[in-house]
Amino acid sequence: MENYRELSRKKLTQRGVKIEDIAVLVYDLQKMYYNDLKIDRCIEAINLVLDKRETAFAVLTGIELDIAAENKSLNEINDIIESDYSLYGIDEILALSIVNVHGSIALTNFGFLDKTKPGIIGKLEEDGKKDGVCHTFLDDIVCAIASSAASRIAHDRENEKTS
Ligand code: MG
Repeated sequence: MENYRELSRKKLTQRGVKIEDIAVLVYDLQKMYYNDLKIDRCIEAINLVLDKRETAFAVLTGIELDIAAENKSLNEINDIIESDYSLYGIDEILALSIVNVHGSIALTNFGFLDKTKPGIIGKLEEDGKKDGVCHTFLDDIVCAIASSAASRIAHDRENEKTS
């Protein structure tokens, strides 16, 4: 069986998403709570999120749907996905499969990132408007990975305090 975790990392890179770009988002979400937060700690948390099977499958599914839309192979729903139709909503729902296994801090941060679109998320959305490029699923996937990593940092820090 294919190593889906490795494959999902490779696909993210191929689609222009670097772990370092996601780490900046995580850092910005958590820096106000931890004075000593380092970017390396954010990268570590992202890697833990990416190691989850739920994440790997959501990443692979979302990216394949974006690519399929670019290739015009989604029949009647191609236009909806390619144009990132605002009432479609299934892109957010797919990304929630990552958020759902990382608790309520992940959920609230997901909504925040989806609304404010900082850094790489805004860039993905802008690039997705270009001809032949579709990032309808990818931007939500990145929101989900960043918000889940932020949640991991918050929970791990609480555990460190109480142990
Ligand atoms: Mg989207």
